[in-house]
Amino acid sequence: MSFASLGLIEPIVRTLDALAYHTPTAVQEQAIPAILAGNDVMAAAQTGTGKTAGFTLPILQRLVMGGKVGNNAARALILVPTRELAEQVHESVRTYAEGLPLRSMVAYGGVSINPQMMTLRKGVDVLVATPGRLLDLHRQNAVHFNEVKTLVLDEADRMLDLGFARELDNILKLLPKKRQTLLFSATFSDPIRALSNQMLREPVRIEATPRNTTVAAIRQWVIPVDKKRKAALFVHLLERRDWTQVLAFARTRKGVDELVGLLESKGIPVDSIHGDKPQPARLRALDRFKAGEVRVLIATDVAARGIDIDDLPAVINVDLPIVAEDYVHRTGRTGRKGASGEAVSLVCADEVEQLAAIEVLTRQTLERVEEPGYAPEHRVPQTDAKGQIVKKPKKPKKPKGNAPVVSEDVRFRR
Ligand code: AMP
Repeated sequence: MSFASLGLIEPIVRTLDALAYHTPTAVQEQAIPAILAGNDVMAAAQTGTGKTAGFTLPILQRLVMGGKVGNNAARALILVPTRELAEQVHESVRTYAEGLPLRSMVAYGGVSINPQMMTLRKGVDVLVATPGRLLDLHRQNAVHFNEVKTLVLDEADRMLDLGFARELDNILKLLPKKRQTLLFSATFSDPIRALSNQMLREPVRIEATPRNTTVAAIRQWVIPVDKKRKAALFVHLLERRDWTQVLAFARTRKGVDELVGLLESKGIPVDSIHGDKPQPARLRALDRFKAGEVRVLIATDVAARGIDIDDLPAVINVDLPIVAEDYVHRTGRTGRKGASGEAVSLVCADEVEQLAAIEVLTRQTLERVEEPGYAPEHRVPQTDAKGQIVKKPKKPKKPKGNAPVVSEDVRFRR
């Protein structure tokens, strides 16, 4: 199967040749002809499957074939959940559009809006944006949506997880009814299905990887450990294993900073990305990691979304994610394009419910391997094949007197 046989025009095929993309990936094989034919698409595809090219290439082709953009307009809109992903997708758009007479730009919040407004004056063919900033630009009359022919929702599940449902709704109301809509999501929860019913018309369904499964080539396992010894175990693993590079996840920004401090004190080259860091610092950290200048990159889920790093040997979950779907996103950072990888989760007794939710979602019971010297005092209860907790941990005793009320506002999904 070649790109030309999927219907892509010669200038695009030439660019792909120069990039050494010789064979389309499974997603590309299915998505490119469907999008070229003008269909709506609903695709279950995670990062690393080649999905970005899968939707960008046919969109570019349709744009080249079809007219010019007016002032303060956009012809294709690609919505993404985070700034990092916006940067990455736009970088791909620029690469694939090399030599084509098309204008593109990226817009996200946290940076000055003025340059974005200036660029939009002449209009752009492809606008990659996060939902909040896009609405800001629209409110300020910097962009109208009358010319939008194609809408892409990339990582739609993540968009809902991050609370963009209202923004998406508002954007949808402003878009022309007659348009092509493409929805990409790593996982398909009920809210995503509802969203796709609302916005897609007779979509071509593409499922490149089985639903809600993690990449098969990854060896995944759990190391049970007490919460207070997680950081020490993390350092121990980094010192003992010959992983050339490691992407690690912690639950909170504070947790990330503490781990960075610890690794620095041990002389392990490390950087981090989390929401408190300004955008340039996050991009710099990512660049340094990609260039191999640091061995370890520690991230929170939000900041790590969409990170595109190939051949990453290991992902370490120092904390399990609150939302089970994030486990799939995290582990998708390794074992890409068939390369083998390892995903290790350091799990303490408090996290058993998150572990069970992950096992339900990914339909597997993760192997548990104790690390000598780090066996936990607080046993992590067993989960069964259905991801159910076999024995619940003891409930903490009721505190006496006027104990503070702890609200249960952080929930995880099953
Ligand atoms: P994505 O899933 O869009 O994040 O893409 C994952 C990686 O695969 C990116 O680094 C792309 O440059 C690369 N890629 C996409 N399509 C192909 C292809 N057909 N052949 C080789 N590499 C590809």
